[in-house]
Amino acid sequence: MTRPRTRRARRPAGRPIPRRLRHAALLLICAAGVSGAAQARELLAIRAGVWEDRLRVVVDVDAEGPYRYRALTEPARIVIDLPETGFARAEIPVVADWMVRRIRLNALADGAAQIVLDVSREPDYKVFSLPAEGGKPARIVCDVFRPSHPPAPDAERPWVVAIDAGHGGRDPGVVSQRPRLREKDIVLDVARSLARALEQQPGIAARLIRDRDERISLSERVRRAEAMRADVFVSIHVNGCTRRSPKGAEVFFLSLGGATDAAAEELAELENEPVAAEDPLMGEIAELPFAVDLIQTDTIQRSSLMAELCIERLSADALAASRGVKQANFVVLRSCRVPSVLVELGFLSNPEDAQNLASEAHRRSLAESLARGLLEYRARYARRSETGSP
Ligand SMILES: [Zn+2]
Repeated sequence: MTRPRTRRARRPAGRPIPRRLRHAALLLICAAGVSGAAQARELLAIRAGVWEDRLRVVVDVDAEGPYRYRALTEPARIVIDLPETGFARAEIPVVADWMVRRIRLNALADGAAQIVLDVSREPDYKVFSLPAEGGKPARIVCDVFRPSHPPAPDAERPWVVAIDAGHGGRDPGVVSQRPRLREKDIVLDVARSLARALEQQPGIAARLIRDRDERISLSERVRRAEAMRADVFVSIHVNGCTRRSPKGAEVFFLSLGGATDAAAEELAELENEPVAAEDPLMGEIAELPFAVDLIQTDTIQRSSLMAELCIERLSADALAASRGVKQANFVVLRSCRVPSVLVELGFLSNPEDAQNLASEAHRRSLAESLARGLLEYRARYARRSETGSP
């Protein structure tokens, strides 16, 4: 049975806004940021889907209208401007594709909505528009094509692991008196050992987010990881507790609450919906809504696999009692678009853990164990986008 299609509310085309009013509208937009109340049209949604040969970004708008686009370099990006377009309600998909690294949405001073695709290299791309039809709104589509000739193996860039030693500078993290230890020192030492262990492997580059005793904001940590073009992100911490009994290591990955359930629900719903065979876009519109969520879910799933392998390795090497893998909404993980985990090595508040963490040899073993967990993740699950090749 075919379900009735949901109709989108459409704004009447109307006459062009008089110049005087346009000026007033501009002021309003400046004051209200992205409010599109007085705009000629509204951007309804941005969606992204990944195919073998391309990544497709579809912009739904409530009315047809002009658009302009261009590719820019340093950094490489594709820019699409939609004049006089508001986007008060539009959501931006999280993309973790090797080719299109991020989608951004800007409000320009002249009232245009600007969509920016941050791409990894000079893009082979195409932008075109589609009219509203069959219950679908007007669309602007941008296809970014994957190169047909993958780079030669020796040209592949290494798998980049960003290692984030927590805290630093004025922020010591957890502190214990006997033995006298500070989290910021322990995690920096483990981070350095982990980098050394990883660097011994061919095809792997380990990069330290901080390599000295400095205080860095969480957003700066993420910015540095992005600048390193990290394929995975590992944040290292040590726990503390008011009680002495809790002990052992635990590894966290990002939780988006209900997001993964919503993706699964939407997927099930679409499985039951027939895709029109004559659709000029190969049914892309029908497939896209969950493609976006799948990308997010995919990164989270990879994070959870990486977390599992890290904790399994620590536990198998008998270096720490395992408290398991947990989900949490840490800012430093939330901001990352690559598989990311946060490792708590042990509790400074627990005498046994603290004694272990005070030992340089034990810290080195922890680092080597973590390195084995990460290498196992890479060998088993790292997709091609994480090895830098298409
Ligand atoms: Zn910490």
